[in-house]
Amino acid sequence: MKRREFIKKAAAGVAASSVFGPVYAQTQKRIRWRMATSWPKSLDTIYGGAITVAETVRAMTGGKFDIRVYAGGEIVPGLKVVDAVQQGTVEAGHTAAYYYIGKHPAFAFATAVPFGFTYREQNAWLYDGNGNKLLNELFADFNMIGFPAGNTGVQMGGWFRKPINSVEDLKGLKMRIPGLGGKVMARLGVTVQVLAGGDIFPALERGAIDATEWVGPYDDEKLGFYKVAKYYYYPGWWEPGPVLHFFVNLDAWKKLPKEYQEILKTAAAKANLQMMVDYDFKNPPALKRLLAKGVKLRKYPLDILKAAEKEAFDLYEELAAKDKFYKKVYDDWKAFRADINRWFGTAELAMSQYLFAKL
Ligand code: CA
Repeated sequence: MKRREFIKKAAAGVAASSVFGPVYAQTQKRIRWRMATSWPKSLDTIYGGAITVAETVRAMTGGKFDIRVYAGGEIVPGLKVVDAVQQGTVEAGHTAAYYYIGKHPAFAFATAVPFGFTYREQNAWLYDGNGNKLLNELFADFNMIGFPAGNTGVQMGGWFRKPINSVEDLKGLKMRIPGLGGKVMARLGVTVQVLAGGDIFPALERGAIDATEWVGPYDDEKLGFYKVAKYYYYPGWWEPGPVLHFFVNLDAWKKLPKEYQEILKTAAAKANLQMMVDYDFKNPPALKRLLAKGVKLRKYPLDILKAAEKEAFDLYEELAAKDKFYKKVYDDWKAFRADINRWFGTAELAMSQYLFAKL
């Protein structure tokens, strides 16, 4: 192509896009939605996931599609987000699916189950495996469609007032821990409570609970648990890579133009990456600060991990025997887990062991 011709064509391209841009924007529908979340605003990581979705959607539609984000308890209680989305009280929500295992135990697989998937494994199962497809069959029963929209990575294993040296030390403890992790802890003798993020510290401070888990150093420091409980355990074996979900009411979803549906999917995927990046960036300095404040870091004893893993898989099998849909998800998850753990146990494990064990 001659230079002059190229310039002419490029100029035509610019002219076409500048005409096309405003015309496209004018034809788009103006939509206003409300998104309820389970999070306090102070947690810029996890609440930030909801903000990322809303801001991305706004930016990609020139402000035409506007989603207002609410903190837990502002318009909907922190643990009732799915109820509100299902009923259409709000069009969307950002929450952890495993808060709703009372509705159906398979909700747990959307977030995390004890000894389950890491961030990358969970994404592989959800996006390219059968995960999202199966879970959206479940969500449809609750008049919702769901998208992964955030992940915390491997969590910490919680805050305790006293050291936990064996399974015996767990017996009789009152602990805040949601999902199937809570069910496993209950089988190990713990009295389990589920509280939304903003309600944990007051309960711990007044002694209504003896121990709690939340996420990891950055969030946990903000929530102030170290002021009451000094022993900080790892790993959070019940949450190797928990997902936070962006749920949309199915009727509201179906009314959206196709372009807006694609924009929502893209915004959720961006949040799914951005939240993990935020945690990996913010956790290392937060851990340093906590240690400087006198927090005592402890690794879970092997006998607890083994006992917990046994109880976890006994529980999974029991639930599978009781519910056909749960079994369908569990069987798929279990087969995927066997293969992907073998792969991650090869190059990934050898590299991690060499790199991280040096510290
Ligand atoms: Ca947690």
